[in-house]
Amino acid sequence: MTRGERRAALEAIASEVRSCTRCRLSESRTLAVPGEGDPDTEVVLVGEGPGFNEDREGRPFVGRAGGLLVRLLASIGWQREDVFITNVVKCRPPENRDPEPDEIAACAPYLRRQLEVLDPAVVVTLGRHSMATFLPGARIGQVHGTTHPADPSTGARDALVFAMYHPAAALRTPALEHESLEDVARVPATLLRSRELRAAHAAAPAPAAGPDTRAPDAGPAAPAADPGPAPDLAPALASPALDAAADPAADDASQLTLF
Ligand code: SF4
Repeated sequence: MTRGERRAALEAIASEVRSCTRCRLSESRTLAVPGEGDPDTEVVLVGEGPGFNEDREGRPFVGRAGGLLVRLLASIGWQREDVFITNVVKCRPPENRDPEPDEIAACAPYLRRQLEVLDPAVVVTLGRHSMATFLPGARIGQVHGTTHPADPSTGARDALVFAMYHPAAALRTPALEHESLEDVARVPATLLRSRELRAAHAAAPAPAAGPDTRAPDAGPAAPAADPGPAPDLAPALASPALDAAADPAADDASQLTLF
C-alpha cells in the first residue's frame, strides 16, 4: 500500500467514525476523535478515550495528558507527528468515566481497521483499557514497561505491544510520571527488536500447508503467548531479551530514527 493509499484508507475510516452511532457515546459527544498521525509510521499509540478537550477539538491527546505525552515522546527524540495516536473508543465517555465493555466492543472494528492499514511494528498501549485490548488479563502495574507479541486478530499482524501507564494517571501520581519516563525510554529498543523480527518473518519460508489445528473459537492469546507466524522464532519472542532494559541494543537505540 502506498502512502497515499494508506492516507485515503485512514481518512475513510475517520469519516465513518465522525458519523458513527453504533453506541450510546455518540449521544453525548461533541466531536468524535478518530485519531491522527503519519500514515507511514511504524509506531501506533493507543489511549483509552477522548477527554474534555479532545471532545471539543476532535483530536486525540490535546489536553494536559497530551502535553505529558508530547514530553514523554520528546524524551526519546520523537515528536507526536512521527507516530499515529488513537484511542480504544473514539467518543468521549460522559464525565470521563471508564468506557463500558459494550462500548469498547462496538468501537473495536475501527481500531482494528486502523491497525490493518498502518501495519505498525510497535503498538504502545496507554492505560488499562488499551492494555486490556492487546493483553487481556494483564495488570498494568505488572506489565507496564514490558513488551509482548501482538495477537494478529487485533489488526496489528506483525507487531510488538509495549504497555505504559496512561499519561493522565501519570499526571495524578508523580511516581507514575517517573516510571513512564523510564518506560518510554525502552520504546526505541522495542522498535529495533520488532524490525528484526519482522525482517526475519519476511525472510522465513512459508510453512508447509497442513490441516488447521486451531480451535474454532480460540480467543485472544495470553500476554506472554506467541501468536507469531514463524514457529522457529517462538523462543526469541518469549525471551527476556525483549525487555529493552535487558537488551544491550537499548543504549544504541536511544537515538533511533523512526524511518
Ligand atoms: S465510541 Fe466508537 S462505536 Fe461508539 S459512537 Fe463513537 S465511534 Fe461509534
